[in-house]
Amino acid sequence: MCGIVGYIGHREAYPIVIKGLKRLEYRGYDSAGIVLYDGKDLKLSKTKGKVSDLEEKSSKEISTNGTIGMGHTRWATHGVPNDVNSHPHLSNSGNLAIIHNGIIENYEPLKKELINRGYTFKSDTDTEVLVNLIEDVQKKDNLKLGKAVQIALNQVIGAYAICVFDKQKPDEIVVARLGSPLAIGIGKDEFFIASDATPFIEYTSNAIYLEDEEMAIVRLHKPLKIRKIKDDSLVDPYIQELQMNLEQIEKGGYDHFMMKEIYEQPNVIKDTYRGRLHANEGLIKMAGIEDNIDKFTNAKRIVIIACGTSWHAGLVAEYIFEEFARIPVEVEYASEFRYRNPIIDKDDVIIAISQSGETADTLAAIKLAKEKGAFVFGVCNVVGSSISRETHAGAYTHAGPEIGVASTKAFTTQITVLTMIALRLAKAKGTLSNSDFHRYLQELEIIPEKVAEALKTNDKAKEIAAVFKDATNFLYLGRGYNFPVALEGAL
Ligand code: GLU
Repeated sequence: MCGIVGYIGHREAYPIVIKGLKRLEYRGYDSAGIVLYDGKDLKLSKTKGKVSDLEEKSSKEISTNGTIGMGHTRWATHGVPNDVNSHPHLSNSGNLAIIHNGIIENYEPLKKELINRGYTFKSDTDTEVLVNLIEDVQKKDNLKLGKAVQIALNQVIGAYAICVFDKQKPDEIVVARLGSPLAIGIGKDEFFIASDATPFIEYTSNAIYLEDEEMAIVRLHKPLKIRKIKDDSLVDPYIQELQMNLEQIEKGGYDHFMMKEIYEQPNVIKDTYRGRLHANEGLIKMAGIEDNIDKFTNAKRIVIIACGTSWHAGLVAEYIFEEFARIPVEVEYASEFRYRNPIIDKDDVIIAISQSGETADTLAAIKLAKEKGAFVFGVCNVVGSSISRETHAGAYTHAGPEIGVASTKAFTTQITVLTMIALRLAKAKGTLSNSDFHRYLQELEIIPEKVAEALKTNDKAKEIAAVFKDATNFLYLGRGYNFPVALEGAL
């Protein structure tokens, strides 16, 4: 999750992009950046922190004039939040600039290939790989930017909403989407590009929402052309008249952030297993686990430490780990763990779970476990958070920012990660038959569809809620996996 904004037209791009980024900050951010084209060159400024930090830095660092610009608020997935990893990213020649929302799953093999071909990389991001892949394709056959983007995207596995600009062809921005949102605002002799319509609502109420696997060349003084990325066929642009106000758009049309986040679950669960779960090949690949597989398989026991909702996810994981991988598991409340003298030694594996990666009790418990010589593995949502830095290894949940106070998608993605770990360990230990292992992978892959199906009961849930909303007591019952789920319901 992150925010992207682009502008091409006759106005100064800088204030439009900066204000647009501020409107998209609700999507979560750890850093921000902007690139402008001033008629001669690209002006790039980026920083860890908020859009206000970017505003301060960029106003000192670059001249802010230019009628073409792109900006990004980042929610890191690959590479910690810092200035260098922030977007926009430039290609090796310095001609192409990209902003990207999403995850390029196969960035590692692509990066290796590009390094073999002489490319160098400044950042740890998947995005910098994509912009150089586009450049490589473009250079090989001297292609137009749109064509190069299309060919490159056909080599990419993952999710993206991207804007790409070539300073040698400064009257167009190429945009594309798969799995991440992208809206194009259409004004008179100007175009706005953004993750949602909030950045341009006061300039135009005409918008096109790109569909998955579509790309567009947004060119000044030319009608917009939308094409299918796969087969290059033209798509009739469907221009919508925006009826929503700012606040409604921010919430994706839902009344509450919590509703929006509940409905995001099918997508974010996919993001969680993206690049990790390969059901057809019968593989689960998680770097943090592969690098430490012996520690897990030799562990005498696993101790999960967490608080609140994460503790409930840990309790679900206890059942799953013990059943699949046959490793004894204890689940501890971090605040209790740290205030006693727990018996922990170097044969224990500790899994610390926290959405924010900043939960103070969990952090203190991690330090204590490390002092006692245990191997500590983190499961958190926020890349580069304290827990991800304090632990020896870990896996991110990739749920995007959770704004609703009651946890929803953070909980289900934590369980997704923990289930993948349990299955990977079961495979390593041989505690599941091959056929069961394959069956579970297939089942895991269709969970998003099942969640989407379950969400269709919304109206029924609303009816039921109306009956019970004034109850003074509510008892949640559940057995097995559903016991911790009942606890979470009660919370
Ligand atoms: N995967 C990209 C990164 O980590 C983009 C993340 C985002 O959507 O903000 O830089």
